[in-house]
Amino acid sequence: MLPVIGVLALQGDVREHLAAVSACGDVRGVPVRRPSELDAVDALVIPGGESTTMSRLLEVFELLDPLRARIAAGMPAYGSCAGMILLAREVLDGRPDQKQIGGLDVVVRRNAFGRQVDSFETDLRFRGMLGGPVRAVFIRAPWVESAGPGVEVLATVPQSTITGADAGAAAGRAVAVRQGAVIATAFHPELTGDLRVHGLFCDLVKEAARAA
Ligand code: GLN
Repeated sequence: MLPVIGVLALQGDVREHLAAVSACGDVRGVPVRRPSELDAVDALVIPGGESTTMSRLLEVFELLDPLRARIAAGMPAYGSCAGMILLAREVLDGRPDQKQIGGLDVVVRRNAFGRQVDSFETDLRFRGMLGGPVRAVFIRAPWVESAGPGVEVLATVPQSTITGADAGAAAGRAVAVRQGAVIATAFHPELTGDLRVHGLFCDLVKEAARAA
């Protein structure tokens, strides 16, 4: 049986992630909205959107605790942008009532790049990725403010990306990380047509399925 990768479908760019996952081949992509659907997947993508809204919907749909439990038990997960925020251990500049799924030993700063640079694109050197730099689209993105010892940094903001007042603060910040079976990017690979980040996650999921 093909491994099943769910895409959390409460809010955000669900369709694009389902398409990207399906394009991996040898996995099946399905939307996840309820606990029974979460039970049926081998891995989960948490899309971009708005982390405060998604946090509220996770509680309304009674998914927060089951999702925390699955990830703590080792289910592979990939979070993009708001998904990265939700997977983080701690959020700076979040709303006081926003909840974390956790699973990733990082502190992230929400809307970190400042007003001047709400959205931007850049090429990132992505550790271990074949085929050259990854085109990254950032939309009111977080960055990783600090990471625990078990977290591998896969990509950082290049020196020359941002000009003006925020330049110094942004350069060198981690924007793609991995801890075990959990991957997170501050950017949106589902929007560029470059499916290598999803490919990396799909490979990880296939490997976990083979090992199970
Ligand atoms: N700023 C959003 C948040 O706080 C994230 C934006 C995104 O996912 N594109 O959740």
